[in-house]
Amino acid sequence: MALRVTPLGAAQQVGRSCILLEIGGRNVLLDCGVAAHSSGSYYPEFSLLGEVQSLDVVIITHFHLDHVGALPYLTEILGYHGPILMTHPTRAIGPIIIKDALSFRRDAEGLTPEMVDAPFDRARCFQLQERVEIGDLSVTSFYAGHVLGAVMVHLECRGQSALYTGDFTMVPDYHLSAARAPLALHPDVMITETTCCTTIRSSKRREVNDLCSKVQDCLEKGGKVLVPLLVMGRSTEICMILEEHWAKAKLAYPIFVISTMAQKARVFFQTFASWGSKRVRSTDRPFAFPHVRFGTLSELLALSGPAVALAGSAMLDFGPSQELFKSWAPEKRNLIVIPGYCLPGTVGNLVQAKEKKIELSSGIVQVRCEVDHFSISDHTDSRGIVELISQVAPRQVVLVHGGLQLMDTFRAIVQKRLRLPCHMPAVGDHVEIPSPAVLEAWASSLLMAQSEPVPPPPVLGVPLIHAKAPVVTTFRGELRKRDRGALELHAAQGPSARAKAKARRILIRQKGRLPCEALKAALRDSNQAVPEDLSSIFEVAGATILVDQIQAGTAAVTISWVAGLEDREPILQQMLDILG
Ligand SMILES: [Zn+2]
Repeated sequence: MALRVTPLGAAQQVGRSCILLEIGGRNVLLDCGVAAHSSGSYYPEFSLLGEVQSLDVVIITHFHLDHVGALPYLTEILGYHGPILMTHPTRAIGPIIIKDALSFRRDAEGLTPEMVDAPFDRARCFQLQERVEIGDLSVTSFYAGHVLGAVMVHLECRGQSALYTGDFTMVPDYHLSAARAPLALHPDVMITETTCCTTIRSSKRREVNDLCSKVQDCLEKGGKVLVPLLVMGRSTEICMILEEHWAKAKLAYPIFVISTMAQKARVFFQTFASWGSKRVRSTDRPFAFPHVRFGTLSELLALSGPAVALAGSAMLDFGPSQELFKSWAPEKRNLIVIPGYCLPGTVGNLVQAKEKKIELSSGIVQVRCEVDHFSISDHTDSRGIVELISQVAPRQVVLVHGGLQLMDTFRAIVQKRLRLPCHMPAVGDHVEIPSPAVLEAWASSLLMAQSEPVPPPPVLGVPLIHAKAPVVTTFRGELRKRDRGALELHAAQGPSARAKAKARRILIRQKGRLPCEALKAALRDSNQAVPEDLSSIFEVAGATILVDQIQAGTAAVTISWVAGLEDREPILQQMLDILG
Protein backbone atom coordinates (compact mmCIF):
# COMPACT_ATOMS: atom_id res chain seq x y z
CA MET A 1 0.00 0.00 0.00
CA ALA A 2 1.35 3.38 -0.98
CA LEU A 3 1.79 6.23 1.42
CA ARG A 4 -0.68 8.98 0.54
CA VAL A 5 -0.90 12.70 1.38
CA THR A 6 -4.21 14.57 0.93
CA PRO A 7 -4.48 18.19 2.10
CA LEU A 8 -7.89 19.23 3.44
CA GLY A 9 -6.55 22.78 3.73
CA ALA A 10 -3.27 24.77 3.67
CA ALA A 11 -2.83 23.58 0.10
CA GLN A 12 -1.40 26.32 -2.12
CA GLN A 13 -2.53 28.71 0.63
CA VAL A 14 -1.74 29.71 4.21
CA GLY A 15 -4.44 28.86 6.72
CA ARG A 16 -6.59 25.90 7.84
CA SER A 17 -3.67 23.48 8.02
CA CYS A 18 -5.12 20.00 7.91
CA ILE A 19 -3.49 17.12 6.08
CA LEU A 20 -4.65 13.54 5.84
CA LEU A 21 -1.67 11.18 5.85
CA GLU A 22 -2.32 7.54 5.01
CA ILE A 23 0.71 5.66 6.27
CA GLY A 24 1.10 1.90 6.68
CA GLY A 25 -2.68 1.53 6.44
CA ARG A 26 -3.31 4.08 9.23
CA ASN A 27 -5.12 7.40 8.78
CA VAL A 28 -3.47 10.32 10.52
CA LEU A 29 -4.78 13.88 10.55
CA LEU A 30 -1.89 16.33 10.78
CA ASP A 31 -3.15 19.58 12.35
CA CYS A 32 -6.72 20.78 12.35
CA GLY A 33 -6.77 24.54 11.79
CA VAL A 34 -9.13 27.25 10.60
CA ALA A 35 -8.69 29.85 7.86
CA ALA A 36 -6.25 32.62 8.69
CA HIS A 37 -8.59 35.37 7.51
CA SER A 38 -12.23 36.05 6.94
CA SER A 39 -12.81 35.24 3.25
CA GLY A 40 -13.33 31.68 2.00
CA SER A 41 -14.12 28.54 3.99
CA TYR A 42 -13.39 28.76 7.70
CA TYR A 43 -12.92 25.02 8.29
CA PRO A 44 -10.86 22.44 6.36
CA GLU A 45 -12.65 20.27 3.78
CA PHE A 46 -13.64 17.59 6.28
CA SER A 47 -16.03 16.06 3.73
CA LEU A 48 -12.93 14.55 2.07
CA LEU A 49 -12.44 12.39 5.15
CA GLY A 50 -15.61 10.43 4.58
CA GLU A 51 -16.18 8.94 8.02
CA VAL A 52 -14.32 10.82 10.80
CA GLN A 53 -14.07 7.63 12.83
CA SER A 54 -11.78 6.23 10.12
CA LEU A 55 -9.06 8.46 11.58
CA ASP A 56 -6.58 6.66 13.83
CA VAL A 57 -5.12 9.79 15.43
CA VAL A 58 -5.12 13.59 15.17
CA ILE A 59 -1.76 15.28 15.80
CA ILE A 60 -1.57 19.02 16.52
CA THR A 61 1.84 20.66 16.00
CA HIS A 62 1.21 24.01 17.76
CA PHE A 63 -1.39 26.38 19.17
CA HIS A 64 -1.81 28.79 16.25
CA LEU A 65 -5.43 29.00 15.13
CA ASP A 66 -4.62 27.90 11.60
CA HIS A 67 -3.27 24.64 13.07
CA VAL A 68 -5.62 23.93 15.96
CA GLY A 69 -8.73 26.13 15.55
CA ALA A 70 -10.91 23.43 13.96
CA LEU A 71 -10.14 20.69 16.50
CA PRO A 72 -13.25 21.31 18.68
CA TYR A 73 -15.36 21.36 15.51
CA LEU A 74 -13.95 17.96 14.51
CA THR A 75 -14.64 16.43 17.91
CA GLU A 76 -17.77 18.20 19.18
CA ILE A 77 -19.68 18.79 15.94
CA LEU A 78 -18.39 16.03 13.64
CA GLY A 79 -18.01 13.52 16.48
CA TYR A 80 -14.39 12.33 16.25
CA HIS A 81 -13.65 10.36 19.43
CA GLY A 82 -10.21 8.88 18.69
CA PRO A 83 -6.77 9.77 20.07
CA ILE A 84 -5.39 13.32 19.91
CA LEU A 85 -1.71 14.15 20.40
CA MET A 86 -0.14 17.52 21.21
CA THR A 87 2.43 19.09 23.53
CA HIS A 88 1.70 20.48 27.00
CA PRO A 89 2.03 24.16 25.96
CA THR A 90 -0.34 23.57 23.02
CA ARG A 91 -2.88 21.93 25.31
CA ALA A 92 -2.65 24.83 27.75
CA ILE A 93 -2.77 27.70 25.25
CA GLY A 94 -4.88 26.27 22.38
CA PRO A 95 -8.30 26.57 24.07
CA ILE A 96 -7.67 30.18 25.11
CA ILE A 97 -6.79 31.20 21.56
CA ILE A 98 -9.81 29.40 20.08
CA LYS A 99 -12.25 30.93 22.58
CA ASP A 100 -10.81 34.37 21.87
CA ALA A 101 -11.27 33.82 18.12
CA LEU A 102 -14.84 32.61 18.60
CA SER A 103 -15.69 35.93 20.23
CA PHE A 104 -14.96 37.57 16.84
CA ARG A 105 -16.62 34.93 14.61
CA ARG A 106 -20.32 34.62 13.95
CA ASP A 107 -20.16 31.74 11.47
CA ALA A 108 -18.40 29.03 13.47
CA GLU A 109 -21.12 26.58 12.35
CA GLY A 110 -22.54 25.75 15.74
CA LEU A 111 -19.29 25.70 17.69
CA THR A 112 -19.61 27.51 21.01
CA PRO A 113 -16.90 28.48 23.55
CA GLU A 114 -18.32 25.85 25.96
CA MET A 115 -17.35 23.09 23.50
CA VAL A 116 -13.73 24.14 23.15
CA ASP A 117 -12.14 22.51 26.21
CA ALA A 118 -13.33 18.94 25.63
CA PRO A 119 -10.78 17.78 23.00
CA PHE A 120 -7.91 19.42 24.93
CA ASP A 121 -8.99 17.79 28.20
CA ARG A 122 -8.70 14.33 26.69
CA ALA A 123 -5.65 14.97 24.46
CA ARG A 124 -2.54 12.95 25.19
CA CYS A 125 0.57 15.08 25.61
CA PHE A 126 3.96 14.03 24.30
CA GLN A 127 7.41 15.13 25.38
CA LEU A 128 10.07 16.24 22.92
CA GLN A 129 11.69 13.26 21.21
CA GLU A 130 9.37 10.88 23.00
CA ARG A 131 8.32 7.99 20.77
CA VAL A 132 4.58 7.47 21.20
CA GLU A 133 3.09 4.21 19.95
CA ILE A 134 -0.52 4.13 18.77
CA GLY A 135 -1.01 0.54 17.67
CA ASP A 136 1.68 -0.07 15.06
CA LEU A 137 2.05 3.65 14.32
CA SER A 138 4.85 5.45 16.10
CA VAL A 139 5.08 9.22 16.41
CA THR A 140 8.19 11.12 17.55
CA SER A 141 8.18 14.88 18.03
CA PHE A 142 11.08 17.27 17.49
CA TYR A 143 11.55 20.89 18.52
CA ALA A 144 10.33 23.30 15.81
CA GLY A 145 11.06 26.77 17.28
CA HIS A 146 8.25 28.96 15.83
CA VAL A 147 6.05 29.40 18.94
CA LEU A 148 6.04 28.01 22.45
CA GLY A 149 5.45 24.26 22.34
CA ALA A 150 5.66 23.87 18.54
CA VAL A 151 6.90 20.54 17.20
CA MET A 152 7.51 18.73 13.97
CA VAL A 153 6.51 15.07 13.93
CA HIS A 154 8.13 11.95 12.49
CA LEU A 155 5.72 9.11 11.82
CA GLU A 156 6.54 5.48 11.12
CA CYS A 157 4.17 2.63 10.39
CA ARG A 158 4.83 -0.75 8.79
CA GLY A 159 7.98 0.39 7.08
CA GLN A 160 6.60 3.71 5.82
CA SER A 161 7.71 7.01 7.25
CA ALA A 162 6.95 10.72 7.01
CA LEU A 163 8.15 13.96 8.56
CA TYR A 164 5.62 16.79 8.94
CA THR A 165 7.27 20.09 9.84
CA GLY A 166 4.26 22.11 10.99
CA ASP A 167 5.59 25.69 11.13
CA PHE A 168 9.25 26.10 12.05
CA THR A 169 12.20 28.47 12.40
CA MET A 170 15.81 27.59 11.63
CA VAL A 171 17.40 30.64 13.30
CA PRO A 172 17.27 30.97 17.09
CA ASP A 173 14.99 33.67 18.48
CA TYR A 174 15.58 35.64 21.65
CA HIS A 175 13.00 33.52 23.47
CA LEU A 176 12.98 30.23 21.51
CA SER A 177 15.65 28.02 19.98
CA ALA A 178 15.85 26.97 16.33
CA ALA A 179 14.24 23.76 15.07
CA ARG A 180 16.15 20.56 15.77
CA ALA A 181 15.46 17.58 13.53
CA PRO A 182 17.85 14.63 13.37
CA LEU A 183 20.20 14.30 10.43
CA ALA A 184 19.41 11.77 7.71
CA LEU A 185 15.99 10.68 8.93
CA HIS A 186 15.33 9.52 5.35
CA PRO A 187 11.54 9.61 5.57
CA ASP A 188 9.61 8.48 2.52
CA VAL A 189 8.09 11.95 2.42
CA MET A 190 8.71 15.29 4.10
CA ILE A 191 5.67 17.58 4.24
CA THR A 192 6.99 21.09 4.79
CA GLU A 193 5.53 24.53 5.34
CA THR A 194 6.50 27.17 2.77
CA THR A 195 5.14 30.44 4.22
CA CYS A 196 8.32 32.42 3.44
CA CYS A 197 9.82 30.00 0.90
CA THR A 198 11.12 32.66 -1.48
CA THR A 199 12.33 35.13 1.16
CA ILE A 200 16.05 35.41 1.91
CA ARG A 201 16.61 37.24 5.18
CA SER A 202 19.61 39.22 6.26
CA SER A 203 21.11 38.34 9.60
CA LYS A 204 18.88 38.41 12.65
CA ARG A 205 21.29 40.79 14.37
CA ARG A 206 20.98 43.33 11.54
CA GLU A 207 17.17 43.06 11.48
CA VAL A 208 17.05 43.61 15.24
CA ASN A 209 19.43 46.60 15.09
CA ASP A 210 17.42 48.21 12.26
CA LEU A 211 14.17 47.67 14.14
CA CYS A 212 15.51 49.17 17.37
CA SER A 213 17.01 52.25 15.74
CA LYS A 214 13.81 52.92 13.72
CA VAL A 215 11.68 52.60 16.86
CA GLN A 216 14.03 54.82 18.88
CA ASP A 217 14.05 57.53 16.14
CA CYS A 218 10.27 57.60 16.07
CA LEU A 219 9.95 57.84 19.87
CA GLU A 220 12.57 60.58 20.10
CA LYS A 221 10.52 62.64 17.63
CA GLY A 222 7.54 62.23 19.96
CA GLY A 223 5.85 59.57 17.81
CA LYS A 224 4.03 56.38 18.72
CA VAL A 225 4.95 52.93 17.47
CA LEU A 226 2.34 50.27 16.72
CA VAL A 227 3.45 46.64 16.42
CA PRO A 228 0.51 44.43 15.39
CA LEU A 229 1.08 40.84 16.46
CA LEU A 230 -0.44 37.78 18.05
CA VAL A 231 0.06 38.61 21.71
CA MET A 232 0.31 34.94 22.67
CA GLY A 233 2.96 34.54 19.97
CA ARG A 234 5.57 37.19 19.14
CA SER A 235 5.00 39.67 21.98
CA THR A 236 7.55 37.95 24.23
CA GLU A 237 10.14 38.05 21.45
CA ILE A 238 9.57 41.77 20.72
CA CYS A 239 9.56 42.62 24.45
CA MET A 240 12.92 40.87 24.92
CA ILE A 241 14.42 42.67 21.90
CA LEU A 242 13.15 46.11 22.99
CA GLU A 243 14.07 45.65 26.66
CA GLU A 244 17.63 44.72 25.69
CA HIS A 245 17.87 47.85 23.54
CA TRP A 246 16.21 50.05 26.19
CA ALA A 247 18.83 48.89 28.72
CA LYS A 248 21.74 49.54 26.32
CA ALA A 249 20.46 52.93 25.09
CA LYS A 250 19.13 53.92 28.55
CA LEU A 251 15.62 54.60 27.25
CA ALA A 252 12.55 54.90 29.46
CA TYR A 253 9.63 55.00 27.00
CA PRO A 254 6.72 52.78 28.02
CA ILE A 255 6.01 49.60 26.06
CA PHE A 256 2.34 48.64 26.26
CA VAL A 257 0.99 45.17 25.62
CA ILE A 258 -2.72 45.43 24.94
CA SER A 259 -4.62 42.24 25.29
CA THR A 260 -6.65 40.40 27.86
CA MET A 261 -4.31 37.51 27.08
CA ALA A 262 -1.07 39.39 27.79
CA GLN A 263 -0.78 38.36 31.43
CA LYS A 264 -1.75 34.78 30.64
CA ALA A 265 0.91 34.70 27.93
CA ARG A 266 3.53 35.75 30.49
CA VAL A 267 2.44 33.00 32.88
CA PHE A 268 2.64 30.37 30.14
CA PHE A 269 6.12 31.44 29.10
CA GLN A 270 7.24 31.20 32.71
CA THR A 271 5.56 27.83 33.22
CA PHE A 272 7.05 26.32 30.08
CA ALA A 273 10.45 28.03 30.32
CA SER A 274 12.14 24.69 29.57
CA TRP A 275 10.89 25.13 25.97
CA GLY A 276 12.67 28.49 25.78
CA SER A 277 16.00 29.48 24.25
CA LYS A 278 19.33 29.11 26.02
CA ARG A 279 19.03 32.80 26.92
CA VAL A 280 15.70 32.10 28.65
CA ARG A 281 16.94 28.98 30.41
CA SER A 282 20.15 30.57 31.66
CA THR A 283 18.59 33.78 33.02
CA ASP A 284 17.04 34.02 36.47
CA ARG A 285 14.09 36.17 35.49
CA PRO A 286 14.02 36.13 31.68
CA PHE A 287 10.57 37.70 31.47
CA ALA A 288 11.11 40.55 33.92
CA PHE A 289 10.38 43.44 31.57
CA PRO A 290 10.80 46.70 33.54
CA HIS A 291 9.36 48.94 30.80
CA VAL A 292 6.45 46.74 29.75
CA ARG A 293 2.97 47.53 31.00
CA PHE A 294 -0.33 45.81 30.38
CA GLY A 295 -2.52 48.60 29.02
CA THR A 296 -6.07 49.02 27.80
CA LEU A 297 -7.16 50.28 24.42
CA SER A 298 -8.85 53.38 25.85
CA GLU A 299 -5.70 54.22 27.83
CA LEU A 300 -3.62 54.04 24.65
CA LEU A 301 -6.11 56.01 22.57
CA ALA A 302 -5.98 58.79 25.17
CA LEU A 303 -2.17 58.76 25.43
CA SER A 304 -0.41 61.91 24.24
CA GLY A 305 3.30 61.11 24.67
CA PRO A 306 5.57 58.67 22.83
CA ALA A 307 5.03 54.95 23.47
CA VAL A 308 5.23 51.53 21.88
CA ALA A 309 2.08 49.40 21.63
CA LEU A 310 2.06 45.67 20.95
CA ALA A 311 -1.48 44.62 20.11
CA GLY A 312 -3.48 41.98 18.26
CA SER A 313 -4.68 41.15 15.72
CA ALA A 314 -1.44 40.45 13.85
CA MET A 315 -2.80 41.34 10.41
CA LEU A 316 -4.74 44.45 11.58
CA ASP A 317 -8.05 42.87 10.57
CA PHE A 318 -9.77 43.39 13.91
CA GLY A 319 -9.09 44.03 17.59
CA PRO A 320 -7.13 46.75 19.39
CA SER A 321 -4.38 46.84 16.75
CA GLN A 322 -6.94 47.97 14.15
CA GLU A 323 -8.35 50.63 16.49
CA LEU A 324 -4.85 52.00 17.15
CA PHE A 325 -4.08 51.83 13.44
CA LYS A 326 -7.13 54.01 12.70
CA SER A 327 -6.03 56.52 15.30
CA TRP A 328 -2.25 56.58 14.75
CA ALA A 329 -1.77 55.91 11.00
CA PRO A 330 -2.86 59.40 9.84
CA GLU A 331 -0.12 61.07 11.91
CA LYS A 332 3.21 61.47 10.12
CA ARG A 333 5.56 61.09 13.07
CA ASN A 334 4.15 57.68 14.07
CA LEU A 335 5.49 54.31 12.94
CA ILE A 336 3.83 50.98 12.19
CA VAL A 337 6.14 47.99 12.39
CA ILE A 338 4.88 44.79 10.80
CA PRO A 339 6.99 42.04 12.35
CA GLY A 340 5.69 38.99 10.52
CA TYR A 341 3.77 37.61 7.60
CA CYS A 342 0.47 39.20 6.48
CA LEU A 343 -1.83 37.28 4.17
CA PRO A 344 -2.95 38.87 0.90
CA GLY A 345 -6.37 40.47 1.38
CA THR A 346 -5.70 41.54 4.97
CA VAL A 347 -5.33 45.14 6.16
CA GLY A 348 -1.79 44.31 7.29
CA ASN A 349 -0.89 43.21 3.78
CA LEU A 350 -2.15 46.54 2.34
CA VAL A 351 -0.19 48.48 4.96
CA GLN A 352 2.90 46.42 4.17
CA ALA A 353 2.40 47.23 0.47
CA LYS A 354 2.54 50.95 1.48
CA GLU A 355 -1.05 51.69 0.40
CA LYS A 356 -1.83 55.28 1.36
CA LYS A 357 -5.63 54.97 1.59
CA ILE A 358 -7.09 51.89 3.20
CA GLU A 359 -10.79 51.24 3.28
CA LEU A 360 -12.18 49.66 6.42
CA SER A 361 -15.83 48.96 7.24
CA SER A 362 -15.76 52.03 9.49
CA GLY A 363 -14.36 54.34 6.79
CA ILE A 364 -11.15 55.22 4.94
CA VAL A 365 -7.86 55.47 6.83
CA GLN A 366 -5.18 57.79 5.43
CA VAL A 367 -1.79 56.23 6.09
CA ARG A 368 0.65 59.11 6.52
CA CYS A 369 2.86 57.53 9.18
CA GLU A 370 5.99 55.57 8.40
CA VAL A 371 5.57 51.85 7.76
CA ASP A 372 8.30 49.29 8.10
CA HIS A 373 8.49 45.55 7.85
CA PHE A 374 10.98 43.56 9.84
CA SER A 375 11.50 39.88 9.55
CA ILE A 376 11.24 39.08 13.21
CA SER A 377 9.24 36.27 11.72
CA ASP A 378 8.37 32.96 13.26
CA HIS A 379 8.65 31.24 9.87
CA THR A 380 11.91 30.11 8.36
CA ASP A 381 13.11 31.61 5.06
CA SER A 382 13.96 29.85 1.80
CA ARG A 383 17.46 28.93 2.96
CA GLY A 384 16.08 27.44 6.16
CA ILE A 385 13.65 25.16 4.33
CA VAL A 386 16.38 23.99 1.93
CA GLU A 387 18.67 23.40 4.90
CA LEU A 388 16.08 21.29 6.70
CA ILE A 389 15.28 19.24 3.59
CA SER A 390 19.02 18.64 3.08
CA GLN A 391 19.44 17.58 6.71
CA VAL A 392 16.47 15.27 6.78
CA ALA A 393 17.13 13.79 3.30
CA PRO A 394 13.61 12.63 2.43
CA ARG A 395 12.81 10.59 -0.69
CA GLN A 396 10.11 13.02 -1.78
CA VAL A 397 8.85 16.45 -0.68
CA VAL A 398 5.30 17.82 -0.40
CA LEU A 399 4.86 21.59 -0.04
CA VAL A 400 1.98 23.01 2.01
CA HIS A 401 1.14 26.21 3.93
CA GLY A 402 2.33 28.74 1.35
CA GLY A 403 1.14 30.93 -1.53
CA LEU A 404 0.69 29.25 -4.91
CA GLN A 405 3.25 31.29 -6.84
CA LEU A 406 5.85 31.24 -4.09
CA MET A 407 5.49 27.47 -3.83
CA ASP A 408 5.86 27.07 -7.56
CA THR A 409 9.15 28.98 -7.49
CA PHE A 410 10.38 27.02 -4.50
CA ARG A 411 9.39 23.67 -6.00
CA ALA A 412 11.84 24.30 -8.86
CA ILE A 413 14.62 24.83 -6.27
CA VAL A 414 13.84 21.50 -4.60
CA GLN A 415 13.66 19.69 -7.92
CA LYS A 416 16.75 21.21 -9.51
CA ARG A 417 19.08 21.89 -6.63
CA LEU A 418 18.14 19.07 -4.29
CA ARG A 419 17.11 16.70 -7.10
CA LEU A 420 14.06 15.47 -5.24
CA PRO A 421 10.55 14.81 -6.51
CA CYS A 422 8.47 17.68 -5.13
CA HIS A 423 4.68 18.10 -5.08
CA MET A 424 2.38 21.02 -4.29
CA PRO A 425 -1.11 19.50 -4.14
CA ALA A 426 -4.33 21.54 -4.10
CA VAL A 427 -7.05 20.79 -1.53
CA GLY A 428 -8.35 17.28 -2.17
CA ASP A 429 -5.45 16.23 -4.45
CA HIS A 430 -3.79 12.96 -3.52
CA VAL A 431 -0.02 12.62 -3.60
CA GLU A 432 0.95 8.96 -3.65
CA ILE A 433 4.47 8.09 -2.54
CA PRO A 434 5.40 4.55 -3.58
CA SER A 435 7.20 2.82 -0.75
CA PRO A 436 10.33 0.75 -1.08
CA ALA A 437 9.90 -2.86 -0.05
CA VAL A 438 10.79 -3.25 3.59
CA LEU A 439 12.43 -6.42 4.74
CA GLU A 440 12.52 -7.16 8.42
CA ALA A 441 14.65 -9.84 9.96
CA TRP A 442 14.89 -11.29 13.44
CA ALA A 443 18.17 -12.92 14.33
CA SER A 444 18.07 -16.17 16.27
CA SER A 445 20.33 -16.57 19.27
CA LEU A 446 22.14 -19.38 17.41
CA LEU A 447 22.95 -17.11 14.50
CA MET A 448 24.07 -14.42 16.89
CA ALA A 449 26.31 -16.89 18.71
CA GLN A 450 27.88 -18.06 15.46
CA SER A 451 28.55 -14.58 14.21
CA GLU A 452 31.57 -13.15 15.93
CA PRO A 453 32.66 -10.48 16.16
CA VAL A 454 29.50 -8.40 16.18
CA PRO A 455 30.37 -5.10 14.50
CA PRO A 456 29.37 -1.77 16.07
CA PRO A 457 26.06 -0.16 15.05
CA PRO A 458 26.23 1.42 11.61
CA VAL A 459 26.28 5.15 11.02
CA LEU A 460 22.78 6.51 10.54
CA GLY A 461 21.73 6.43 6.89
CA VAL A 462 24.99 5.01 5.55
CA PRO A 463 24.55 1.85 3.45
CA LEU A 464 26.11 -1.26 4.89
CA ILE A 465 28.61 -3.11 2.76
CA HIS A 466 30.31 -6.05 4.37
CA ALA A 467 33.02 -7.88 2.51
CA LYS A 468 33.80 -10.44 5.19
CA ALA A 469 31.68 -13.46 5.83
CA PRO A 470 29.68 -14.09 7.79
CA VAL A 471 28.83 -10.69 9.20
CA VAL A 472 25.93 -9.96 11.44
CA THR A 473 24.85 -6.55 12.59
CA THR A 474 22.60 -6.37 15.57
CA PHE A 475 20.89 -3.06 15.66
CA ARG A 476 17.39 -1.77 15.98
CA GLY A 477 16.43 -0.46 12.61
CA GLU A 478 14.74 -1.08 9.37
CA LEU A 479 16.01 -2.79 6.25
CA ARG A 480 15.04 -1.17 3.03
CA LYS A 481 15.47 -2.56 -0.40
CA ARG A 482 16.92 0.24 -2.46
CA ASP A 483 17.27 0.65 -6.19
CA ARG A 484 19.56 -1.78 -7.99
CA GLY A 485 19.16 -4.41 -5.32
CA ALA A 486 21.07 -2.57 -2.62
CA LEU A 487 19.94 -2.99 0.95
CA GLU A 488 20.29 -0.35 3.61
CA LEU A 489 19.80 -0.56 7.32
CA HIS A 490 18.26 2.54 8.80
CA ALA A 491 18.64 3.11 12.48
CA ALA A 492 15.59 3.58 14.63
CA GLN A 493 15.20 7.19 15.66
CA GLY A 494 15.32 8.79 19.03
CA PRO A 495 17.76 8.92 21.88
CA SER A 496 17.14 5.27 22.72
CA ALA A 497 18.58 3.95 19.44
CA ARG A 498 22.00 3.18 20.85
CA ALA A 499 20.63 1.71 24.03
CA LYS A 500 18.53 -0.67 22.00
CA ALA A 501 21.40 -1.71 19.77
CA LYS A 502 20.92 -5.30 20.89
CA ALA A 503 17.47 -5.43 19.34
CA ARG A 504 16.71 -7.83 16.62
CA ARG A 505 16.69 -6.54 13.08
CA ILE A 506 19.68 -7.58 11.00
CA LEU A 507 21.20 -7.56 7.58
CA ILE A 508 23.65 -10.24 6.57
CA ARG A 509 25.64 -9.86 3.41
CA GLN A 510 28.57 -11.91 2.24
CA LYS A 511 30.68 -12.23 -0.83
CA GLY A 512 32.04 -15.47 -2.19
CA ARG A 513 32.43 -17.76 -5.17
CA LEU A 514 29.86 -20.30 -6.26
CA PRO A 515 30.12 -22.89 -9.06
CA CYS A 516 27.69 -21.89 -11.82
CA GLU A 517 26.24 -25.40 -11.79
CA ALA A 518 25.39 -25.08 -8.06
CA LEU A 519 23.65 -21.79 -8.69
CA LYS A 520 21.70 -23.25 -11.62
CA ALA A 521 20.70 -26.23 -9.48
CA ALA A 522 19.50 -23.90 -6.74
CA LEU A 523 17.39 -21.98 -9.24
CA ARG A 524 15.92 -25.18 -10.67
CA ASP A 525 15.18 -26.52 -7.17
CA SER A 526 13.27 -23.36 -6.37
CA ASN A 527 11.29 -23.66 -9.63
CA GLN A 528 12.88 -20.69 -11.30
CA ALA A 529 13.88 -20.25 -14.90
CA VAL A 530 17.61 -20.67 -15.39
CA PRO A 531 18.95 -18.04 -17.76
CA GLU A 532 21.88 -19.01 -19.96
CA ASP A 533 23.65 -15.82 -18.96
CA LEU A 534 23.78 -15.89 -15.17
CA SER A 535 24.86 -12.26 -14.71
CA SER A 536 21.78 -11.08 -12.90
CA ILE A 537 20.06 -10.80 -9.53
CA PHE A 538 18.16 -13.80 -8.20
CA GLU A 539 15.90 -14.35 -5.26
CA VAL A 540 16.38 -17.78 -3.75
CA ALA A 541 14.71 -18.80 -0.52
CA GLY A 542 14.43 -15.25 0.68
CA ALA A 543 18.03 -14.39 -0.13
CA THR A 544 19.17 -12.02 -2.82
CA ILE A 545 22.02 -13.30 -4.94
CA LEU A 546 23.81 -10.73 -7.01
CA VAL A 547 26.16 -12.25 -9.56
CA ASP A 548 29.05 -9.85 -9.85
CA GLN A 549 31.23 -11.77 -12.32
CA ILE A 550 31.48 -15.18 -13.99
CA GLN A 551 34.86 -16.71 -14.64
CA ALA A 552 35.76 -20.28 -15.60
CA GLY A 553 32.46 -21.80 -14.52
CA THR A 554 32.47 -19.97 -11.20
CA ALA A 555 30.26 -17.03 -10.19
CA ALA A 556 31.53 -14.28 -7.91
CA VAL A 557 28.42 -13.46 -5.91
CA THR A 558 27.16 -11.22 -3.17
CA ILE A 559 24.50 -12.94 -1.17
CA SER A 560 22.28 -11.03 1.21
CA TRP A 561 19.57 -12.31 3.43
CA VAL A 562 17.45 -11.05 6.19
CA ALA A 563 16.26 -14.01 8.16
CA GLY A 564 17.18 -15.87 11.33
CA LEU A 565 19.04 -19.15 11.11
CA GLU A 566 16.03 -21.30 11.91
CA ASP A 567 14.09 -19.66 9.09
CA ARG A 568 16.51 -20.65 6.40
CA GLU A 569 15.38 -23.04 3.76
CA PRO A 570 17.64 -26.07 3.34
CA ILE A 571 18.50 -24.88 -0.14
CA LEU A 572 19.97 -21.69 1.24
CA GLN A 573 21.85 -23.65 3.86
CA GLN A 574 23.42 -25.77 1.12
CA MET A 575 24.56 -22.69 -0.72
CA LEU A 576 26.03 -21.24 2.43
CA ASP A 577 27.87 -24.49 2.99
CA ILE A 578 29.36 -24.23 -0.49
CA LEU A 579 30.32 -20.62 0.13
CA GLY A 580 31.97 -21.67 3.36
ZN1 LIG B 1 2.12 28.79 13.17
